[in-house]
Amino acid sequence: MDTQMLIDGRFETGTEAAEDIIDPKSGEVVASLPEASADQVEAAVAAARSAFAAWSRTTPAERSAHLLAIADRIDAESAGFAALEALNCGKPINAVTVDEIPTISDCFRFFAGAVRTLHGMAAGEYIAGHTSMIRRDPVGVIGSIAPWNYPLMMMAWKLAPAIAGGNTVVFKPSENTPLTALKLAKILADVLPAGVVNIVLGRGASVGNAIIHHPGIDMVSLTGDVGTGKKVLAAAAGNLKRTHLELGGKAPVIVFDDADIGEVVEGLRAFGYYNAGQDCTAACRIYADGKIYDNLVADLASAVSSIRFADADDTANEMGPLISGRQRDRVIGFVERAAEHSHMEIATGGKTAGGSGFFFEPTVIAGALQNDEIVRKEVFGPVVSVTRFTDTEDAVAWANDSDYGLASSVWTKDVGRAMSAAASLRYGATWVNTHFALPSEMPHGGLKQSGYGKDMSQYALEDYTVIRHVMIKH
Ligand code: NAD
Repeated sequence: MDTQMLIDGRFETGTEAAEDIIDPKSGEVVASLPEASADQVEAAVAAARSAFAAWSRTTPAERSAHLLAIADRIDAESAGFAALEALNCGKPINAVTVDEIPTISDCFRFFAGAVRTLHGMAAGEYIAGHTSMIRRDPVGVIGSIAPWNYPLMMMAWKLAPAIAGGNTVVFKPSENTPLTALKLAKILADVLPAGVVNIVLGRGASVGNAIIHHPGIDMVSLTGDVGTGKKVLAAAAGNLKRTHLELGGKAPVIVFDDADIGEVVEGLRAFGYYNAGQDCTAACRIYADGKIYDNLVADLASAVSSIRFADADDTANEMGPLISGRQRDRVIGFVERAAEHSHMEIATGGKTAGGSGFFFEPTVIAGALQNDEIVRKEVFGPVVSVTRFTDTEDAVAWANDSDYGLASSVWTKDVGRAMSAAASLRYGATWVNTHFALPSEMPHGGLKQSGYGKDMSQYALEDYTVIRHVMIKH
């Protein structure tokens, strides 16, 4: 297991308080990693600033070759990455191996290609005798801060467009899930010039706080909680940093009466409980037409009760535990408070399970109303609420009635109905008859308090570059 941080091409151990890294399946400590000191954060920022001069002047083709080399190394070591991610997050090994690692190397490959086609507007003569051109140049040093739910994938989403765009990076993984970042550090040290990517460990309040306030950081990219996003914005005022924020979500799912209920149930069983619901796009807030509501609740409860978890044979598991005891207690709180209301019914699940690990049963809460906490607040656990509607306008209005605006879906066989609902939904993504599909070519990011940074796609490269005007007098 790699345990050292990467600063200016050298491997170092943090010198401050250690954080226990826990296996969520068992609750056991698997490592204890000291966090970076203020001096180590300084050294990481200084290394990134110094590396920027040369890295920002490399050609897209040169940077592309580095990204392709990183992708090849991730694929070559995919089993090791998958095992570490499964250990640190409790994810079922098959989910990491099949769903996550291939999309992570694909993200590096996508940006390796995309950066070679990035261009500004064509040159033109807008003042007589002067030719103008637009350049897309790097922003500078990016402070990247990642969450614990998809540690390596979020790292790829942040690093690939940043370094493809010619920036250098100081990256901080979540204090709970640093293990795959430290393994990737080895590859980054082999492939990239020293200082292009630096990796420091630590908690949000100490190391994260130092990064977001640092005057040597030009842009902060955060995937995390809305409250943390607000702290980043306040800190950015110090030297007017750019910010790229990917925050929480509470995805609505509108199920019309003509939807294929079998497909809806299969979709919700998969996309409501993937990663134990610790997903900002999780299909967690269902609005079902009254004509199909009873059937949907019954079929969904039955399907969800068959989700396999906490099996000693991990290859049989479809769902893992929550990340920590703290997160499990949060989820228990939401479900217990919902159960206190007589209009809501726990149709399946609702309890902790699985011994010393942080498991929680996949849960369906029926009869939820728009103003219930379970409909309004992000649970970040395997809990899906179902709300009945009779009027399409209500369904769309309730779906939009949220502080969040990341992801949504609509289920119907009627294309016109689907397009009309999709046009009215105020979400960064709307899927029709599916949920949660995120190809590298398409942008992922929110509206409202879900933030505004775009991950993946050409739009992420735009976020990680600046537009400049160069004018030549003839
Ligand atoms: P979090 O905000 O607590 O932590 C995220 C990162 O921010 C961690 O690395 C943490 O150390 C750091 N951090 C915390 N406080 C900080 C501070 N004061 N200054 C600087 N850094 C600080 O979030 P989390 O609990 O790790 O992740 C869950 C949240 O992330 C959920 O709300 C989820 O919806 C969101 N999320 C969003 C997306 C998306 O694409 N929109 C993807 C995954 C997760």
